[in-house]
Amino acid sequence: MKLISTNWQSHPVTLKQAVRHGLAPDGGLWMFPELPKLPAELLDKSNQISLPEAAFLVTRQFLGSQVPDEDLKDIIKSSLNFDIPIQKLSSDLSVLELFHGPTLAFKDVGARFMAQLISYFLQKEESEVTVLVATSGDTGSAAAHAFTGIPGVKVVLLYPKNGVSAIQERFLTTAGSQVKALRVNGSFDDCQRLVKEAFVDPELIQRVHLISANSINVARLIAQTVYFAWAFLLSPQHPQLTFSVPSGNMGNLTAGLMMRRMGLPISKMIVACNVNDPVPEYLRTGFFKPRPSVSTLSNAMDIGNPSNFARMQYLFDGDLAKMREAVTGYSFSDEQTAKIIKKIWQEHRYQIDPHTAVALLGAESYRKENPDCSHIVALGTAHPVKFKDEVERIIGADLDLPKQVKKIFNKEMVYRDVEAELRGLKEVLLG
Ligand SMILES: *Cc1c(COP(=O)(O)O)cnc(C)c1O
Repeated sequence: MKLISTNWQSHPVTLKQAVRHGLAPDGGLWMFPELPKLPAELLDKSNQISLPEAAFLVTRQFLGSQVPDEDLKDIIKSSLNFDIPIQKLSSDLSVLELFHGPTLAFKDVGARFMAQLISYFLQKEESEVTVLVATSGDTGSAAAHAFTGIPGVKVVLLYPKNGVSAIQERFLTTAGSQVKALRVNGSFDDCQRLVKEAFVDPELIQRVHLISANSINVARLIAQTVYFAWAFLLSPQHPQLTFSVPSGNMGNLTAGLMMRRMGLPISKMIVACNVNDPVPEYLRTGFFKPRPSVSTLSNAMDIGNPSNFARMQYLFDGDLAKMREAVTGYSFSDEQTAKIIKKIWQEHRYQIDPHTAVALLGAESYRKENPDCSHIVALGTAHPVKFKDEVERIIGADLDLPKQVKKIFNKEMVYRDVEAELRGLKEVLLG
């Protein structure tokens, strides 16, 4: 199956091409023209399927003829090699903990699968590539750790000086010699601009094989469909589920919508945002108005122009009424976010990060309006320790430190300071 661009102007490409180039030449996002149905054996809960087995049954639907079964099993074994447990908070609400990977955020799922898939496609070519990523925190560290150990791949990360949390900076700068972390004297927008400039620079195009690992890459989307099925398998008593998804670029939400279309029994998807809420606003008013982002406690969702909105539009043929049947949206303030973090701690002795908190707010609002709705699974997208200072201040207690964090504190931070201009970046890339 070839992939097509959501802007319709580019020639369809193979999965391999789509994964390697990220964005389509016409500026659109690569998408599957048809979504296959999920196999019946996956949906039969009496089968006692493991996470890697579920991942295989789901991703095979997309990769089909392009990656042989045994190779796909290897890719899954090297990428989805951590637990995704579910935590029940009450009879009608659970949290799916997607943050037990090496960098403690759900971005590990997509980034690790993408890295293994790129590595698989490269093996057959024996060329060297450089993965270039601009990051505001989670994406860069997930990519850095995901590509570590893959032969023939170098990673160059750009992150804004003073723009990431202390723990995020440790994750970014301790991944080892394969990863070059550049601390840019500027903002996240400057980092993104530098990446775009590098991709069109004639000298770089000639001399370096650059790959983009940003969040629109279709490989990430494929991996992210897996855990919706996994949540279903972990909830044998519930024939239907409602998901509450804390959203920024809408990648997670899009993956869930694809699974719903493919036959997973999802009654509704809740899109839960902070005050950066163009999608909930669209669902309410029918107008999509991108705008500059505003800083919030849940900073990975501070996105004013979500790129995966194009894929959402594609899935529903641009029909608002159809989208509303599948999705409901809400947005919440930092004050509400802090309040629910404290409440969940007091009532359940359970520590949550600000993004997961927004998902729980979404679940709460939806339940109020739909008291009879099916069991709600809120996606837990980051470990609370990634936002240690904020969460400890809110709950007035210390957080437990997971082993991933202890590990990075024993390592030396290695980075290079660069100005926010292409010259410094080029020096590093041409190395
Ligand atoms: C990236 C991120 C999100 C938002 O996910 P999207 O797929 O961009 O909507 C939510 N929570 C955390 C912790 C993230 O890092």
